[in-house]
Amino acid sequence: MHASTRLLVVEDDASIGEPLVEALGREGFPVTWVTTGADALAAPGPFDLVLLDLGLPDLDGSEVCRRLRSASSVPIIVLTARDDEVERVLLLEMGADDYVLKPFGFRELVARIRAVRRRSTPQAPSPGAPPVEPEGLVVDRRSRRVRLAGAEVDLTPKEFDLLALLADEPGRAFSREQILHEVWDEHWWGPTKTLDVHVSSLRKKLGPDPWISTLRGVGYRLDPPTAGALTVIGEP
Ligand code: CA
Repeated sequence: MHASTRLLVVEDDASIGEPLVEALGREGFPVTWVTTGADALAAPGPFDLVLLDLGLPDLDGSEVCRRLRSASSVPIIVLTARDDEVERVLLLEMGADDYVLKPFGFRELVARIRAVRRRSTPQAPSPGAPPVEPEGLVVDRRSRRVRLAGAEVDLTPKEFDLLALLADEPGRAFSREQILHEVWDEHWWGPTKTLDVHVSSLRKKLGPDPWISTLRGVGYRLDPPTAGALTVIGEP
């Protein structure tokens, strides 16, 4: 079942990398293993998911994360020993989709890989999908795809989750706490700047129309610029 999940493992410590790559291989994942940030950025993909150690010998892992993210929407799970709230916020701001604290159990890691993949993998559309492409912004929950005026919008898993949540009820104010709770994991408690970073990135991808309104001291609201400009397909 993992045949389609091609993993890039970025880990310089052989005592972690070797058994990890071996175990992932036994689990059926096609794995490419590199030990430096430079090799990670140069690795010939495509990959479906990146497991990224933060303490690398050449580039800082956070820099690798930022650069990977600026080049593609590939899901990134960070492997980190740094267990503090600020660091986690930074990771998510840099575009990581999840993180696993070292030392981690292999089963836990595989569960995280599956969860991140589930959130980022388009599912086959069900029969009876509308044959005519609606105008404006289309948020398709079934395939986890977003189209704007017929063109695919490339969103990270978290950006999609955020947009899909706001699109549940256009015109409704969602509080920051509510969004963080729904879109980020329940174990997520920390400063909330990561939310603003994702909103800002989402706004850029949604073109010149002001789709997302900031409600000072409250949160955010999705405001379609015209009636009928938003189509949501699939159940929440
Ligand atoms: Ca390391």
